[in-house]
Amino acid sequence: MAVAAGTKVCVVNTHGGQVVDTWAFDPADATHFLSMEHSRVATYKIMFEVGDTLVSNRREPFLTITADTSPGLHDTQYAACDAVEYAAMGKPDHPNCADNLRAALTPFGLAPPVVPCPWNLFEIATIRDGRYLADLPAGALPGAYVEMEARRDVVLVCSACPSEGFGINGEAPPRGGHFELYPPRA
Ligand SMILES: [Zn+2]
Repeated sequence: MAVAAGTKVCVVNTHGGQVVDTWAFDPADATHFLSMEHSRVATYKIMFEVGDTLVSNRREPFLTITADTSPGLHDTQYAACDAVEYAAMGKPDHPNCADNLRAALTPFGLAPPVVPCPWNLFEIATIRDGRYLADLPAGALPGAYVEMEARRDVVLVCSACPSEGFGINGEAPPRGGHFELYPPRA
């Protein structure tokens, strides 16, 4: 989805409990994208919150979080699920977030050389003893949302993670989410 600078986007957890892998790209350059590692440095946080500005791999502001009605712990550590991962689990044709990203970018003429680490909205991966990752079910209730403002023109991609494993999507099967867009502020 193309999002113009100044536009607010709301990513809504329509049914609750859904993890939504999220990326943002420079519409003119597939090698310039929202970067979790650079955003962690920029905010000095493992997980971002309202008021934080997330940046690109060139440290350019991309998105500012303007509201969040979920538990607010959005993972920034995990790679997107992909075909290799599912094949290793004996599910070679399973839908996956990496392929969803590539398919979503194709109409924009973008073919990134790598799949950047996604911003895993609603995914709760806590860090235990300063070292270990521990997954908890996404605690977002139906209708919970994260609202963000684009700081520049971006192509925003969200993939409702189809994983049934690891408990990240809670007990229910993955069911998707939806967007709402708001015009730039006057
Ligand atoms: Zn996924």
